Amino acid sequence: MVQPFTHEPFTNFKKEENRKELEGALRSVRTELGKDYPLVINGEKVYTEDKLVSINSANKEEVVGNVSKATKDHVEQAFQAAVEAYETWRKVPVEDRAHVLFRAAAIVRRRKHEFSAWLIQDAGKPWDQADGDIAEGIDFLEYYGRQMLELDQGKHVEDRMTENNKYFYKAMGPGVVIPPWNFAFAIVCGTVAAPIVAGNPVLLKPSENTPVIAYKLVEVLEEAGLPKGVLNFVPGDPKEIGDYLVDHKDTHFINFTGSRATGVRIFERAAKIQEGQQHLKRVVAEMGGKDTIIVDETADLDLAAESIVHSAFGFSGQKCSACSRAIIHEDVYDEVIRKSVEIAKTLTVGNPSEENVYMASVINQAQFDKIKNYIEIGKEEGELVFGGETDDSKGFFIYPTIFKDLNPKARIMQEEIFGPVVAFAKAKDFDELLVIANNTEYGLTGAVISTNRNHLERAREDFHVGNLYFNRGCTAAIVGYQPFGGFKMSGTDSKAGGPDYLQHFLEAKIVSEQF
Ligand code: NAD
Repeated sequence: MVQPFTHEPFTNFKKEENRKELEGALRSVRTELGKDYPLVINGEKVYTEDKLVSINSANKEEVVGNVSKATKDHVEQAFQAAVEAYETWRKVPVEDRAHVLFRAAAIVRRRKHEFSAWLIQDAGKPWDQADGDIAEGIDFLEYYGRQMLELDQGKHVEDRMTENNKYFYKAMGPGVVIPPWNFAFAIVCGTVAAPIVAGNPVLLKPSENTPVIAYKLVEVLEEAGLPKGVLNFVPGDPKEIGDYLVDHKDTHFINFTGSRATGVRIFERAAKIQEGQQHLKRVVAEMGGKDTIIVDETADLDLAAESIVHSAFGFSGQKCSACSRAIIHEDVYDEVIRKSVEIAKTLTVGNPSEENVYMASVINQAQFDKIKNYIEIGKEEGELVFGGETDDSKGFFIYPTIFKDLNPKARIMQEEIFGPVVAFAKAKDFDELLVIANNTEYGLTGAVISTNRNHLERAREDFHVGNLYFNRGCTAAIVGYQPFGGFKMSGTDSKAGGPDYLQHFLEAKIVSEQF
């Protein structure tokens, strides 16, 4: 009997025993740094000469792991394995498929701190953020397992006197999973687990920034009993194998999460029918955000400042849901900025391996350079009121940065920065707050801080984002509670962790029998 879903609790690191466990896990993971990792094709481990070198972003000298790099030939072999595995995996009873996910969740739960330690090293996550990422991965496994058991019942359709009708869901065929690095465990876990539990073999190409933790997930699923060929691990250079994975005639779906530029490219390419292809590809593309918190004149201003600062600077703003625009009613504008600066001053920046670090390094040199450039743009477009410092001598550190007095059309109000930079702008009334909130091409998350019921109800209808929050920050969606996905150029609104998600990887079939 499967218990109802509840989300995985977060670890309380104020408790000494929890701190000690994570410290122990970090020590043990450090003894494993710099190892080589293989591709996994049809259950076989394949080591290549050419490697992706994953480094610790807080300490550039430290190599986390050397991960084998797939060529097109490897990808071709992985497709063959997936096509073959499809014929058996799709017929494995749903209950057995779901139990692979439940066993995987149990394995990760048991080794939670070890996985957090890998994330701290591989993705530069501070302790609480790493713990949240692992908890979310567990949630995806538990939630999608349960969802698939439910969908296996099919849906009710009517029968007639001499006719029996059955409406049910079937797997689609092999597909490709292309995740980002910023939720290097949770998103990989969710985007892989969903199509697999639906009966589809997968080729996983992890982000080149965080391939080690992705390999750890592959190991877990294997230990949980996933048959060979169902999950093929093909890390590599996206310029070399990205198009090949997307274009392949045997790709039935592409489950992508990442930037707008990559998502749009995939979406366009997937529409082209290749020689020998007998189906239309489905594309799930969850892309960037330019997320806004609006604050009206009735708001609790302490709550407003807390919500803005933590949504903007948690994990150094490297969340698609991070607040990068704060639009404030003119009556409370100065006060909200003052309070936000006061809170930002208390945030600690440092090596995520250490306890009590609020913000760590950003993921790599390219992101560091990009964010630094946006800080320079911000200085021209608005007034720097806090932060702006950067330091890449040891790791890629960017300090929390606040700008004010931005024109809503300014570049730092429109373009995704993906770093710890938040821009404030002023509005004269609630109508203008909403107009500015909606004036980007993105539509992922947003929040309204207000005690005015009419304003909240207007926002419910007219604030065009996939995930809207009232009187809290705009990050930290929980699987099964706040299914996640955005509108407009934020993507296909797949609502990861929600009741409709698995249907992206299923085909509905009706069998009608006369008797
Ligand atoms: P990215 O687009 O650079 O890379 C994402 C993935 O695409 C990686 O695995 C990468 O190797 C792969 N890729 C790159 N070029 C490719 C190509 N031509 N063909 C196939 N695959 C290719 O994004 P990123 O820097 O890894 O992640 C950050 C972005 O992800 C941000 O824009 C963020 O907002 C977004 N994001 C969105 C969500 C969401 O749910 N909407 C969640 C997390 C992150």
